[in-house]
Amino acid sequence: MIRKQYKNVKKCLKKSRLVNYFTLGKYSFSPYVACEHGCLYCDGRSEKYFVSGDFEKDIIIRPNLPDLLGSELKKIREPGLISIGSGVSDPYQSVEKGEAIMTKCLKRIRDNSRLGVSVMTKSNLILRDIDICEKIHEKSGVILMVSLTSLDENIRQILEPSAPSFSERVELLREFKSRGMYTGVLALPLIYGITDNFKQLESLYEVLKEIDVRHVYIPDSETYVFTRATKIIGFYSLYENILAAIFVLPEFQGKGIGSQLIEHTKTQRNQIELSVYKDNEYSYNFYKSHDFKFICEQQDEHTGFMEITMGWSK
Ligand code: SF4
Repeated sequence: MIRKQYKNVKKCLKKSRLVNYFTLGKYSFSPYVACEHGCLYCDGRSEKYFVSGDFEKDIIIRPNLPDLLGSELKKIREPGLISIGSGVSDPYQSVEKGEAIMTKCLKRIRDNSRLGVSVMTKSNLILRDIDICEKIHEKSGVILMVSLTSLDENIRQILEPSAPSFSERVELLREFKSRGMYTGVLALPLIYGITDNFKQLESLYEVLKEIDVRHVYIPDSETYVFTRATKIIGFYSLYENILAAIFVLPEFQGKGIGSQLIEHTKTQRNQIELSVYKDNEYSYNFYKSHDFKFICEQQDEHTGFMEITMGWSK
């Protein structure tokens, strides 16, 4: 059962100095923190993001976002896309059915701005708001970005147990495309031995080519999973020399699996960097105990929290 927590925020839009190469957004916001979709590989659970509670059940709702957005939009001078969604929540997870924060925010953008929008989601609940999206698109453009790594429902049921089916996502892309909006696919993460199979990727690509999605984003990262029997209980992802995510299921934490994963990263690279929130002393000390050293500290542009960059080399 979902436990909702309502938390007003002081500001809605975060502005990036540069356009984000991944979301294409200059501005961004996210109506929720944590995510009911419960994807097994979700790095939103990793300690880097410091999301408290049970990631799939304790959902933080930001009810005052539409009002803040309405007033902030009037003050924007610099053009750029507004990217909605984040790595720690899907804006169209099922709590949105009742809250309708996205509907209200999209209406504010439609009525008060000439900025385009990119929405990242796995959910066809966005179809409820497709008419509003279409109006925004006529003025300034809408890009729908859907995460999709396979067409195999068995894999979806294991990796993304509460997210909409792959076929629903394909239909979602088709519908947005047929209304003339831009569509893109985030084919990530590709998990070694599970979703990086060439044949599977080829069939996915064929479907996406037929729909004529505008772009397919395939990450240049490696993900390794830790399994017990047939169950995945932890993973880490390396992007070049950066440890982008590391996670162990809560019921298996404190049993040395995180240590095995972090030591395994060192067999893959000669040097590794990672970032961790400054307030997250437990994780900072964990990395320190595995010979990662302080490099610098800075503010995370997505959350506003201070984060520390740490590094290890052979
Ligand atoms: S939909 Fe996205 S944010 Fe939600 S659990 Fe899956 S990967 Fe995480």
